[in-house]
Amino acid sequence: GGGGGGGFGGFGGFGGGQRRVKGSNLRIRVKLTLEEIANGVEKKIKVKRKKQAAGVTYKTCETCKGAGQVTRVQNTILGRMQTSAPCSTCGGAGQSIDKRPDGADAQGLVVEEETVSIKIPAGVVDGMQLKVQGRGNDAPGNGISGDLLVAIEELDHDHLQREGDNLHYDLYISISEAVLGSSKEIDTVTGKVRIKVEAGVQSGKILRLRSKGIPSINGYGKGDLLVHVNVWTPKTLTKEQKQFFEKMAKDENFTPNPEKEDKSFFEKVKDMFS
Ligand SMILES: [Zn+2]
Repeated sequence: GGGGGGGFGGFGGFGGGQRRVKGSNLRIRVKLTLEEIANGVEKKIKVKRKKQAAGVTYKTCETCKGAGQVTRVQNTILGRMQTSAPCSTCGGAGQSIDKRPDGADAQGLVVEEETVSIKIPAGVVDGMQLKVQGRGNDAPGNGISGDLLVAIEELDHDHLQREGDNLHYDLYISISEAVLGSSKEIDTVTGKVRIKVEAGVQSGKILRLRSKGIPSINGYGKGDLLVHVNVWTPKTLTKEQKQFFEKMAKDENFTPNPEKEDKSFFEKVKDMFS
């Protein structure tokens, strides 16, 4: 066929022996919610990648006969010496362009938008990089395609905080709920969960919901959801409410009297990690 001519110079990085050109890698970022991270997700991402143009043909390089290397035999005072070097005509690819369709670059490639489906396993971490093999830029001729490198970005959650595989949640209850006990619904990464808050609960208590956190990326179990109880103190009171609390201030039931189970914050943290 007509057109074309010339090899693919400048690919760099030559090894010994038979060599296949590899297309360049592409990098993208994917933003994930905590829910997506907790459950795993398949994302369809539009990627602009170089592909071999329709109708492009390649031919074996005439200089190196497809070997990608040129071997020279020289007679020197030490005898016959054989040296090999990458073929300068094809840049080591062993092939050159034969027929170049309109719009294709010197390597016979065109940029096309493609939708790539990326399976993201549960438990990925912000900054982690996943590799989708062969979905980077195509190489010319019989070269192999580069890879698509996917950087994970974790979006902030509006009420859950991640710490490794564990999640933290701040629960606010009223003084009345703390005194009388209550039942509360919490939005977890896998759906709603109802928890019981015992009457007489102290502010700062941590309720542990086992396996309601993020699955380990290694596949070993799940983290927990740690619910931090915060008792909400009213900032404004009616006259009657004020009188009620003034009366209660002298009552022995309202006098702090922590028992062993009402551990300090630091003891609780120590407990959590032991
Ligand atoms: Zn060549």
